[in-house]
Amino acid sequence: MDFNDSPEEAAYREKARAWLAENAAAHRAKWGEPKANTPEHMAAAKDWQATKASAGYACITWPAAIGGGGGTPIQSVIFGQEETKAGVGYGYFTIGLGMCVPTVMAFADGETKKRFVGPAVRGEEIWCQLFSEPAGGSDVAALRTRAVRDGDDWVINGQKVWTTGAHYCDYGILLVRTDPDVPKHKGLTMFWVDMKDPAVECRPIHQMSGGREFNEVYFTDLRVKDSQRLGEVGQGWQVALVTLMNERLAVGGSAGPNYREVMKLARDLSGVTGPAVKDQAFREKLADWYVQSEGLKFTRFRTMTALSRGQTPGPESSIGKIISANQLQELANTAVEMEDQYGILSDPEVAPAEAAFQQSLMWAPGLRIAGGTDEILKNIIAERVLGLPGDVRVDKDVAFKDMPTGR
Ligand SMILES: Cc1cc2nc3c(=O)[nH]c(=O)nc-3n(C[C@H](O)[C@H](O)[C@H](O)COP(=O)(O)OP(=O)(O)OC[C@H]3O[C@@H](n4cnc5c(N)ncnc54)[C@H](O)[C@@H]3O)c2cc1C
Repeated sequence: MDFNDSPEEAAYREKARAWLAENAAAHRAKWGEPKANTPEHMAAAKDWQATKASAGYACITWPAAIGGGGGTPIQSVIFGQEETKAGVGYGYFTIGLGMCVPTVMAFADGETKKRFVGPAVRGEEIWCQLFSEPAGGSDVAALRTRAVRDGDDWVINGQKVWTTGAHYCDYGILLVRTDPDVPKHKGLTMFWVDMKDPAVECRPIHQMSGGREFNEVYFTDLRVKDSQRLGEVGQGWQVALVTLMNERLAVGGSAGPNYREVMKLARDLSGVTGPAVKDQAFREKLADWYVQSEGLKFTRFRTMTALSRGQTPGPESSIGKIISANQLQELANTAVEMEDQYGILSDPEVAPAEAAFQQSLMWAPGLRIAGGTDEILKNIIAERVLGLPGDVRVDKDVAFKDMPTGR
């Protein structure tokens, strides 16, 4: 493990920091701090993405010829760290640029790539991932949305769920069943689709946090051209694996308060027996969070070292999300309890710590599910890191149409 930047990495960090200092300030002066999920917030996000793209800081690892930065994975990590410190950055592009467009780049023809990659890098068009369904989440290969061939078209009917950003996205990658007569993984095909087509209907899901970031998406006789296919007919699972591999890297960390911030709150809040930070039970929890955070920090150093040496991080990086998402939920829960009757306030204007803990308490369960639930990630670690026997898979060789549905 190597904890320090190499001389080249240190020089890159310095350059990125200087660029961010200048451009983040200019961005803030132009846009102020628009409220999340408003048209102004989206406009500011698109503007920031375009600014980064023009300087080679958007999609740093992609070739410059297609709009990327022509850089290395470690440079991308360094820029991400500095961008977070600079307090700019928007989530709208994470799924599109982290998962969907790389899939398009891997499987689409030259003309399609030329049409879509540049606008996505510059933030002009946003993409969503249409995989999960009511009957296919962790087991996404159990999905039921059907595509039936009709001449040069495919006709698609069915429903997706939990699609992040579908309501503002321009395009999506859609995994569908094209052959129910073969086992579930073998009858899938991937397409790219136009989210503004009238045959696509997005219905927002209202979250307990008050947000509406996810959607149910319905397809009613949606017609797509065969040229919108990504990969071969029946090879959709292999295409999806490329997306999912990228997803594990993109949904890595947890934005939100850490143990230091709970400690600060515990110093500020006083119960009948004095400041909460003196409470023995609280101190034990704090010690656990500290140990976990240090372990996570060194695990991330290991990932950084692999990237710095030009290697690809392995399945062991799955542990990062399990630890950070669970810790976020637990420390937010403790903080809200500590806030006593003020804990029920979720308005940042009046709640303690600008409601950071209330927001995190409502967001953390989602983080524990997105990009692979705790249990699925533990299965990955058990099977692929520790070499334990595989999960029981009884339907591997059964034709999809013969799988019991419970009806
Ligand atoms: C914040 C957020 C954003 C999301 N964005 C998107 C998106 O943009 N596009 C998209 O397609 N999907 C998205 N999803 C959906 C997400 O991929 C699924 O919710 C996830 O894969 C789990 O599927 P499920 O909800 O159907 O739960 P299920 O798969 O039904 O799981 C239910 C429970 O059973 C457990 N379980 C399931 N299988 C096993 C097993 N083999 N072993 C042990 N336990 C098991 C799970 O861990 C879980 O506790 C998003 C979800 C969230 C929370």
